[in-house]
Amino acid sequence: MRRAIVAGNAKMNLDRHRLAELLHAVRDHVDRASPSCDVVYCPPATLIPAAAGVLAGSAVGYGAQNMHWEASGAFTGELSLLMLREWGCTHVILGHSERRSLFGETDAAVRRKAEAAMTGGLVPIVCVGETESERTAGATEVVLSRQVSGSLAGLPVTDPRALVVAYEPVWAIGTGKTATPEQAQEAHAHLRSELGKVFGEPLAGGIRVLYGGSVKPDNARELLTKPDVDGALVGGASLDARAFLPIIDAAP
Ligand code: PEP
Repeated sequence: MRRAIVAGNAKMNLDRHRLAELLHAVRDHVDRASPSCDVVYCPPATLIPAAAGVLAGSAVGYGAQNMHWEASGAFTGELSLLMLREWGCTHVILGHSERRSLFGETDAAVRRKAEAAMTGGLVPIVCVGETESERTAGATEVVLSRQVSGSLAGLPVTDPRALVVAYEPVWAIGTGKTATPEQAQEAHAHLRSELGKVFGEPLAGGIRVLYGGSVKPDNARELLTKPDVDGALVGGASLDARAFLPIIDAAP
């Protein structure tokens, strides 16, 4: 039985005051209602210490939106695993489509980052997903297979809880267009079968595969109750507790 995860990705949004207000609401809700999913929040890096302050002693985890694979060195503007660990992060989002398309991140780079994260005890949330033209061309499964083998093959997975995959169709991110529950299930089932080829079926059966792409309170339940959908990676709706808390509550 895979325990669902609802993860928030604030991207380059929020300030210290709004983050504190939001995370107080998330923390109070999660600690009072004990939802049936794990909850993780990834603010901008500069706000991670503020998140750590609000979430100390809470069941809500927090993480970063990116990291470098090297431990230290001449990598201007980058953050290392040790820096994230020092802040108390538990998770790191890697290979988000915005990083892939806007900052040229390749599968090979994502894989190096994921390996560094896992080796240091951080859970990577590795994002994969096809563009609209790839879906229209019928290439969704080919793209997902390529991303799984390029970004994940060979990672040192011995505990399936140490790796999280997020299926984020690029055409659904921030657009208000959501994959139908059937489209999501189909892609997730394909991803799980590819994970089985890479890690073996027993491990693949335990790896959480989240759906991301315009998840909102009114579509979360339908998506999260599909058998291979193990939670959500939430962008826009994670910026407001009135939208994020109902998504947490939608996890089965
Ligand atoms: C995301 O950025 O990971 C995401 C899924 O964004 P949104 O929920 O806004 O589509």
